[in-house]
Amino acid sequence: MRKKFKKMLGLSLSALMMGSVALPSATYIVHAESISTKTPGSAISNGNEISTDSSTDVPSKDSNTNVGTDSGSEECTNHVLKKVYGTPASCTEEGTKTHYVCDVCGKLFLDENGENEVSEEEIKIPEAHEWNTPTYDWSGAEVTGDSTELPSEPDGHTVTAKTTCKLCGEELTETEEFSTDTVHTADCTKDPVVKRYATDFVNSAFTNNSVTYNTGETNEEHNFTEFSDQIATPATCTEKAQYYLKCSDCDVISTNETDEKEEDEPLGHSFTDKPSNVQAAAGTCGSNTYYVQCDRCDAVSDTKTVVVGEATNHLNTVVINQKDATCTKPGYTGDTVCDQCGALIKKGEEIPATGHKTSNKVSDKIAKEATCTTPAKYYLLCDTCNEVTENTKEVGKPNGHSFTNKDSGKVKDEATCTSPAIHYVQCDNCDEISTDKTIEIGSTDADNHGNIVLKNDKKATCKDEGYTGDEYCEDCGKLVKTGTKIPVTNEHTWDAGKITKAATCTQAGEKTYTCSVCGATKKEIIKKTEHKWAPRTETKVSGKDVVTTTKKTYDQCSVCKSVRNMKTVNSVRIKTPSVTLKAGKKSFTAKTKKLSGINGYQIRYSVKKNMKKSKTVTTKKTSKTVKKLISKKKYYVQVRAYKTVNGKKVFSSWSKVKNITTKK
Ligand SMILES: [Zn+2]
Ligand SMILES: [Zn+2]
Ligand SMILES: [Zn+2]
Ligand SMILES: [Zn+2]
Ligand SMILES: [Zn+2]
Ligand SMILES: [Zn+2]
Ligand SMILES: [Zn+2]
Ligand SMILES: [Zn+2]
Repeated sequence: MRKKFKKMLGLSLSALMMGSVALPSATYIVHAESISTKTPGSAISNGNEISTDSSTDVPSKDSNTNVGTDSGSEECTNHVLKKVYGTPASCTEEGTKTHYVCDVCGKLFLDENGENEVSEEEIKIPEAHEWNTPTYDWSGAEVTGDSTELPSEPDGHTVTAKTTCKLCGEELTETEEFSTDTVHTADCTKDPVVKRYATDFVNSAFTNNSVTYNTGETNEEHNFTEFSDQIATPATCTEKAQYYLKCSDCDVISTNETDEKEEDEPLGHSFTDKPSNVQAAAGTCGSNTYYVQCDRCDAVSDTKTVVVGEATNHLNTVVINQKDATCTKPGYTGDTVCDQCGALIKKGEEIPATGHKTSNKVSDKIAKEATCTTPAKYYLLCDTCNEVTENTKEVGKPNGHSFTNKDSGKVKDEATCTSPAIHYVQCDNCDEISTDKTIEIGSTDADNHGNIVLKNDKKATCKDEGYTGDEYCEDCGKLVKTGTKIPVTNEHTWDAGKITKAATCTQAGEKTYTCSVCGATKKEIIKKTEHKWAPRTETKVSGKDVVTTTKKTYDQCSVCKSVRNMKTVNSVRIKTPSVTLKAGKKSFTAKTKKLSGINGYQIRYSVKKNMKKSKTVTTKKTSKTVKKLISKKKYYVQVRAYKTVNGKKVFSSWSKVKNITTKK
């Protein structure tokens, strides 16, 4: 729908622009922001409204002027703005400001966004002349001399203002009376000045205006009464300095007026060591003495002299100013001088003061009074000059402490129920506290019992309650504190215990303890002992002809005789059979002694004694004839028995080799 609205709006605008309607220098502006913020519902009705207005009632020059009044009462939320360029006002006709008019509601605005609505009055520019800068004619106001008086009539005391309109050339003239003020009077720096001014012009083309006039000239005479910093003549030995004076009004410094300051003084002569030509004394020992001359001027001192030339030719010397040292003051060895001219030839040296010497001469001036522990001290007299010195000496003995009954506060024994507190005594004269002397202080303390003893105390057992005991004071016999019961304890008095079930190799035992006080019992498990294994071997031999040896190895507990890890090994040994031989025709018969428990026999025979290449025959009988042999041949024969054990044949040893010779 919004798209459609835009399209319709576009059509109506393009129709306007294509020139179907003639509008004077106007441009339409649709305020896009106000459209985009519309809800879809209201946009429909607004869109329809605009499209209807724009297409059916195209604004013309005539209808445009009526828009404001026709639709003024309707609420237009979507201004269609047209810019209307302003026209300037003239001297006689009013103009208008450039503004915007809504095509829909006809409202007027000064901004292109249509936010600040204005009335028709507010866009009007009133008609007015445009005046040139005015001229003011003060020709009647001039003043001469130092008078501030106004010129009298008919000269008048008015000013005339004139101007013309830039646009239409119309002239405007106004004449007003002016007032007069003195700006300042004349002094050594300024001319006297008066001011004429007019402030009451009626026409707004004219503004306040004034003019000033000099009415005389500056005063020529300065008031030279103050000192400047510039010195005209410096001070001399006898004359004060001269300073140029300055004007107290304008600070100008005079070029010829000077004066001296009352507080100044002349420099005075400087007599140092410049000899004048006035001799003071005739020359002795090679020198002359002259009065000195001032360093700055020609003045000559009448007292101060200077020696010119060196006096070296002294004949006799003498030592002067020597002085002995005393205990407190230094002495002097004396200066060696010429006894003629007084010239110093050798300067002396200071002899240090000897200082007082003290030993045992005690003065009566006390330095420190005796105390409990120190004797009195007296100043000593100097052995040499007998003056009292700073040295001191102890005289006499210390006063010793005075222990009477002053409480030191140091407690020996606190107050108890039977006796007051006992404190050590302090010296009456110092802080020393006695180590043995004491005094009783205050009264007894009924609550401080010295020797508490416990009575009726009893230990608790597993059978009976106990008692903490009552505290009694041994000194005053008072019951100080009652005891409390002690509950029955869990601590039994166990006996050594009896084994009620002995432990075995495989089962735990039990030990029972009995309390000797209350008869309670408790049981304790005795761990099973475990087997004590020892290795064993057992051998059994049975049978007569077939000897079977059975060997058993195992572990056996030495305590309970239990057995483990049993292994059985059987071995079979068969008795060696004996054989008797009997010769036959190309044969022999071997006969063995019957052995019990066997399965059969083996017979082997060979033609060689060492039984090489022998032949073996097996039989279950005790007699066996071996046939088809070579006649008259000697055969060697052996026999052995066998038994099948566990599917395996076990043989006896072969019998001793016997021989037989076959028959023909
Ligand atoms: Zn001045
Ligand atoms: Zn001088
Ligand atoms: Zn001399
Ligand atoms: Zn002395
Ligand atoms: Zn003391
Ligand atoms: Zn007591
Ligand atoms: Zn018990
Ligand atoms: Zn065992």
